[in-house]
Amino acid sequence: MIPFLPLKDVTAKYADEIHEAVSRVVDSGWYLQGQENERFERDYAQYIGTDYCVGVGNGLDALVWIFRAYIELGVMRPGDEVIVPANTFIASVLAITENGLKPVFVEPRLDTLEIDDEQIEAAITERTKSILIVHLYGRCAYTEKIGALCKKYNLKLVEDNAQAHGCKGPLPPKGGVYLADPILYPLLKEYAQKNRNHPTEAESLLWEILSRRRIPAIQQRTTNGNSPFRGHGGLKFRRQHIIGKYIADFACLETKLIIEVDGKYHNLEGQQEEDAIRTKVIEDYGYRVLRFTNEQVLYDTEHTLEKIKSACLTPPSGGRGATGSLGSAAGHSFYPGKNLGAFGDAGAVTTNDKELADTIRALANYGSTRKYVFKYVGRNSRLDEIQAAVLDVKLRHLDEDNAHRQQIANYYYDHIKNPLITLPNRLPDVHNVYHIFPVLCERRDELQAYLTEHGIQTLIHYPIPPHKQECYREYNHLSLPITEQIHQQELSLPISPVMTLEEAAQVVDAVNSFLRSAS
Ligand SMILES: *Cc1c(COP(=O)(O)O)cnc(C)c1O
Repeated sequence: MIPFLPLKDVTAKYADEIHEAVSRVVDSGWYLQGQENERFERDYAQYIGTDYCVGVGNGLDALVWIFRAYIELGVMRPGDEVIVPANTFIASVLAITENGLKPVFVEPRLDTLEIDDEQIEAAITERTKSILIVHLYGRCAYTEKIGALCKKYNLKLVEDNAQAHGCKGPLPPKGGVYLADPILYPLLKEYAQKNRNHPTEAESLLWEILSRRRIPAIQQRTTNGNSPFRGHGGLKFRRQHIIGKYIADFACLETKLIIEVDGKYHNLEGQQEEDAIRTKVIEDYGYRVLRFTNEQVLYDTEHTLEKIKSACLTPPSGGRGATGSLGSAAGHSFYPGKNLGAFGDAGAVTTNDKELADTIRALANYGSTRKYVFKYVGRNSRLDEIQAAVLDVKLRHLDEDNAHRQQIANYYYDHIKNPLITLPNRLPDVHNVYHIFPVLCERRDELQAYLTEHGIQTLIHYPIPPHKQECYREYNHLSLPITEQIHQQELSLPISPVMTLEEAAQVVDAVNSFLRSAS
């Protein structure tokens, strides 16, 4: 049986570090609002690239608190309208209605499955105060058009980032550079392969060393000799890794480190300028760049390695432009099955707005601004110390886990070929962390039964859209045909940080033989 998401195995991957973190909290005697929370909030804010992060009880609450805080701050009033994609998990809508705000549903595009930015403007009225975008399935839903509409109509852009931790948006255009052009991607892939086949002498030597995982990870320093990387000694590097429109010589996703090995022509004046731009752009994606010359690698190898090692001991910093940093505020869920999952309920809000962050912190703590002083009628919705400690461990592996999901997804894109099955448009990896791998099929239920027969577990995300749910009777009459079509046709294939390519190949074989096995 190929499971949809074997959480037990996902946890086992980092079991030593997680057990150590949990024990630390258990032994500390301090279980709420302590230093674990503080550390995770700091690290997650840095990872997402915002000034503030407030840990809360779960992802739904994170979204509820954002709108509630805007109401407390006088930015919104009950009865105001919030634009929301009709194709989403119900929590996005619950966060709006729980605050007495009115959801205005906008259809998705059939090729992206995300909100159709062409249809948003027609839904804006005088009462519209916000657009809630949902990075559904792990895909970035933000577009520059959405950003422009928020500016034009003075709307708060709120992100539901429950499914897209680690995903990047399109960077705001700077100096006209527009990144990760999907059109360039196939070409870059071809170049990367060529470069891999024809490395320079220095690249060969460095790859020899890096591919043997001789660079230790940060965590090894803290786990009393219990290496979290069982089975091998250290960090995993990739060579000829595509970032935006560039190909980096070597990349370690876990520590967000890029290593470039430059030949002689990098000393030329124009080239240095080019390199500086390239470095800046790569840094915007959250990576750090180390540059070495061929000579340094070939003739001063030990020193070069020392520099790489010491860079790897500094934790990665967040980059600009991550989903969760694109709007005014974002809600994150750490439900166990999410890309960054806790061992129970957990969530967070990220924002650059200090007043909003302070208000949310108070609201989620009974409405208290100081001990026994209550400014708001709040609730109790806090992130506990054990979850924070677990999340901080898993955050350090998130990019690596996402990269694994991307590898599986790319395999699916390369190999699934069945005229009865449609895949959503393919995005460059930076814009999709593949929380879910959705496919559309008119004969979805048959496909699901067929895959079950072939030992493949699938799920449906989701069978009934929010506006057709019993709890939203007042919206049941709405006709949102694209959303309804997606809910009738969507099937989610297995994908996880522990799925093997062999398993992916089995899924592909089964999917490709659906209704074609007889011929
Ligand atoms: C999971 C999820 C939520 C809710 O998060 P919880 O932590 O389960 O409350 C909200 N929105 C989306 C899109 C989700 O997938």
